[in-house]
Order: sequence, then C-alpha cells, then structure tokens
Amino acid sequence: MSIISLNEPDKELLLMGNEAMARGALEAGVSVAAAYPGTPSSEIIASLAEAAEDMGIYVEWSVNEKVALEVAAAASFSGLRAICAMKQNGLNVASDFLLNLNLIGTQAGLLLVVCDDPSSHSSSNEQDSRLFSKMADLPLLEPATFQEAKEMVKWAFTLSESIENVCMMRGVTRISHARGNVILGELPRRKARPYFNKEKQRVTHPVNQKHPLLHESLDRLREIFNGSPFNQYAGPEKAELIIMTCGSGWLYAQEAVELTGLDDMVGILKIGTTWPLPEKLILEYLKRTEKVLFVEEVDPFLEGNVKELAADFMRQIGPKTFFGKKSHHIPFFGEMNSDRVVDALTQIFDMEYTFATPAYEASAKKAEMMVPNRVLGFCPGCPHRASLWSIKSALELDDREGFVTGDIGCYALARNTAGYELSKTSGAMGTGTGLASGFGKLSRFGFSQPIISLCGDSTFFHAALPALTNAHFNNSNFIMVILDNSATAMTGFQPHPGVGINAMGETVLPVEIEGVCQALEAKVEVTDPFDLEGTRQKLLDMLEGPGGAKVLIMRRKCALLRLKEEKPPYRMHIDAELCLGKDCGCNRFCTRTFKCPGLIVDQETGKAKIDEVICVGCGLCAEICPTGAIVREETA
Ligand code: SF4
Ligand code: SF4
Repeated sequence: MSIISLNEPDKELLLMGNEAMARGALEAGVSVAAAYPGTPSSEIIASLAEAAEDMGIYVEWSVNEKVALEVAAAASFSGLRAICAMKQNGLNVASDFLLNLNLIGTQAGLLLVVCDDPSSHSSSNEQDSRLFSKMADLPLLEPATFQEAKEMVKWAFTLSESIENVCMMRGVTRISHARGNVILGELPRRKARPYFNKEKQRVTHPVNQKHPLLHESLDRLREIFNGSPFNQYAGPEKAELIIMTCGSGWLYAQEAVELTGLDDMVGILKIGTTWPLPEKLILEYLKRTEKVLFVEEVDPFLEGNVKELAADFMRQIGPKTFFGKKSHHIPFFGEMNSDRVVDALTQIFDMEYTFATPAYEASAKKAEMMVPNRVLGFCPGCPHRASLWSIKSALELDDREGFVTGDIGCYALARNTAGYELSKTSGAMGTGTGLASGFGKLSRFGFSQPIISLCGDSTFFHAALPALTNAHFNNSNFIMVILDNSATAMTGFQPHPGVGINAMGETVLPVEIEGVCQALEAKVEVTDPFDLEGTRQKLLDMLEGPGGAKVLIMRRKCALLRLKEEKPPYRMHIDAELCLGKDCGCNRFCTRTFKCPGLIVDQETGKAKIDEVICVGCGLCAEICPTGAIVREETA
C-alpha cells in the first residue's frame, strides 16, 4: 500500500510536500490525475500513481502539460474531480488551453498545481507562475506548510466547484521537496459516475459575456478569502512594521523576527489566498501600521497587488512606507531564506546583527574544505557521454564549423564541460529542433554551417515532434539527433509513449520513434552510441549526404536503469605500463577530456586509475584510450 493511501484518520505522518498535496487530493475524492513530469512537481502525480490501484483512481503521465490539463478538464466536464500538476515551464505549455478553459469553465473541482523553482535548481528559467492566475482571472492559493499544502488542496476542489472554474495553487521547491509532519484526514471511497451533459457546450464563446463573469467570480472570491483561515496575523495590535508574506516566506519571516528579537514591534500577516487579494483583511492591517515589508519568492506579486490596493484606498488608510523587492530590501532573484529577511529588517530598523559568530564561520570554512569540489557531470556509464563524444569528433572531422542546438533533459549538460561544450543553444522543451529547423533554412543567405539538434526520447513526444514536422513541411536542412535512453531520466524515470508502460503500470503498445519520423519522410538511422566508431561514421555520412531533415536515433538505455536490470558487463583496470599519464593527449586524455567520473588520476604514479566505487563497468573508456591502457575484462 502506498503511504498516501493509508486509511488512518488523525495519524501523523512525515510527508514530502508533494506527497501531502497528493494526499489532500485523495481526501478530496479526486478521480483523475494527469501531468508531464517536471522538477519540483513530479512526486505529486507519482505518489497518486502509486495509490491508483488502492484508491480506484486514474493517473496518467501525459505527453505534455497542455494535454495533461485537457485530460483533467475532460474529467471535470464529466463530473469527476481532477488534479493536474506541473512545473513553472510546463505552465507556459499549458497556458494556451488554460487561458481558454477559464472562459469555458468547469464542473467538478479542477485543481491546477504549479510548482515553481526559485533559484532554478533544476530548471531552464526562474519564473513566477502566480502571474498566470491574475492573467486568467483564476483564484490562487499558496501553502506555507506541509499540513497546509494538504488542507489547501482539499479546499481548492470545493472552491473550484463554487465558481465552476479552475483553482490554481502555487508551490515552490522548499514546499514540494522538504518534509514535515502531516495529520491525515478521512479518505472518501465513493466516486461519482461520470456523465457528459451534451446539452451544455463547453466552449469559450460568447467571450464578451463570459469574460465579465470571470470578474464577477473574482469579486465573490475576494469576499470568501477575507474570512479564510489560511490568512492569519500574529504580532502586536499596533505594529511598527507588518511583514506581508505568502508561501514559504512565512516560515522565513517568523524565524527572522525571532532572530532579531523584533517580535514586540513587528507583526506578520500571512496570506494563503494570494489572488484575488482578500482586500478587506489587508486594508484592516494596513490601517494598523505605517510600514510594510513584503517577503515572497521570485516576483513582487503580493507587493505589487497590495500597493495597488493601498493607492486605491489612500484616503482611508493614510500614507505608508513599503519595503520589498522594489526598494531592494529583498532581492529580486533566487530563493528566499531567513538571512535575507533578517538583512531587510536590520536595514529598516538600522540595527546591528551578527549573522554568524567567528567560531561558527571557522567551522563552516573547515566543513567547506572537506567537501570535494565536483562539477556537474554525466553519471558513470551514461550513454549521453558516448553520443556527445561521437558528435564532437564528427563535427571536428567535418571541419565546417558545425554546431549543436541543445534541449532540456540530462543532455542539457552538453552545454558545459561534461558535454564538451557542444551545445550552443538551450531554451524551452523542443527548442533545439525548432531552432535547427530555422538555421536549416538560412542557406539562401549564404549560411553553410552544419547543424545538429539534440532532443531526448521524452522531449521528442513533448515538443520536438511539431518542430520536426515543420522541418519536413518547409524542407529544412539539419540532423536531428534523438538521444533515446528509454526514460524521462532527469525527473525520475517516468514512462513516456516510447517505453511500452504507462503511469498505472499497464503494458501498452510503444510508439516507435523511427516509425513516426519515417512517416514524416525523414531519413532515419538508428545507432548504439557505445559503438563510437560506427556512430561517428553515420554522422559523417549524414553530414556529407543530401539535404533535408535527417534523424539519427542514438539508442541505449540509461545507465541507472541498466544497473537495476543487469550486472556490470566488464571489470576495468589500467595497464600502468601502457598508460602515458600526463604525456597523453593534452594531459591525460581520459580523465581530462573524456570525463567519466569512474576515471581518476593516481596521485602517486601520475597514471590513470579506475575508481572502483564509481565505475559501473560499461567498458566505453577502453575505446578512447590511444594506447590500449584501459583494459576491460568480461564479467562471468
Ligand atoms: S587515455 Fe589511456 S594512456 Fe591516456 S591517460 Fe588515460 S589511460 Fe592513460
Ligand atoms: S568503464 Fe570507463 S567509462 Fe564506463 S563507467 Fe567505468 S570508467 Fe566510466
């Protein structure tokens, strides 16, 4: 049984924020869940997939976020509660439908959870998804704790049904991925029978009548939010300064006030219902203070909206001094933490504060020295290292200043030293192929550099397929390399249409990538990237061959998946007699240039050495050693 389907009301469990949200959905009686994986949101749907059988719900990994939202909307239209989850970049993909769905409206509760990644720990951008709720005129909730994450999800379904529209919830990495105690509630077992009422058309028109209705529902929500228990104040009756905060900012604000000892002067107003603003409540607290500090992650969303409100009610509340991102007391970028709030408070109150004692700083420095200085790299035995090695050699041999347009996935590392700095562009999902399609049309202006685009197998289905279709339609000239490692590896090995299994663990007919490409009339080749020689030759042939969009599928299962299924094929060692050490290539070809972390330098002998703890015995490095010093022996 999955942890989130435990039917023990009042039991306290240590749950990850994403698990708490999934549990909230189960307690709300959700029937359908859909998503495309993306850090930090993935575990919401992954946890629901684990609970699917126990709870009799339907869960799917959709091919992209827009489709996921459409799947969830179909359930809602049929009277079933549905949840759709995604990361901030995913919302951009889903937004086209979201900004129509708001006009169409929903029936059963539909919750859209978007998890932002402040500081961009695992994202191509830093984006504040809250702006979409304002753009779409939809309600937005922001949980500040794990318990609240669960309770808010439950409430969101009721809210969605009361306005017959989508309710949005914004999480951030430290809510999604941290853990805390959560008290469980009841699990309903009875599900509604789905029925689509053909008498009611689910369309956006007439837009001129439906758009005003959205604003009417925002007015009703404002009233509801004024009394919401998710909005709360703690602090003096008449505060010298009130911190207005939301989401994870609440815990940081509390810690900062405690650290600075300002609790008799500073109050904290936590807003859990960030859009539309609970105006009456906020005005009440604006009257109680002269100064306001905003603490929130990424954009000044709460700050801007409260300032706008304060300007409208200036006569009633009097002039205020606002501190936050606009005044540069709180940084515009990166994650929030208590030090940032302490820093703002000490500036505002002009007070001295020592962030760390000299003894603490000395031990922190010592600890830092003990941590190995590691650069971001591919796993040992990763097929992408082999693929990129072949691409690098082929482009060097071709010698026409060819370059690579990169994409999102593990292979995004193609832009740094681990991927030989091959990738010269990186943006949204599928953008590598779209850009290549564009570069591939520039020959009429004298452009002659060869272009190789990268995309993964999951990205192929998500967003690269339309770009390849475009390339065929417009007769563009480039090589599309599909790095097929049989998984959405970067986000936790979720299945995709090419792997033959779905989120519920059911066996399905896999969609064959080469078949899809061939249907688009592309010339398609398949290669094993561990055949370095053969892969490079195929690329060289494609580079020299006739124009048009050509596809080379470099197919080898992710090393981490392989390790789960089979034992390492080789035992590796270095023949010290043959190893040239620092005289090899440009100073140790294998460790400095090839960069598998399983290869290290023996500081005593100056020769290469296999790190037996890290090496997974894939045997690839034996292929690149010029003297044959890297020896592989087959394991029995
Ligand atoms: S590539 Fe071969 S010869 Fe060169 S340093 Fe590595 S093991 Fe030694
Ligand atoms: S065999 Fe070589 S390339 Fe493979 S994991 Fe070991 S050190 Fe790395």
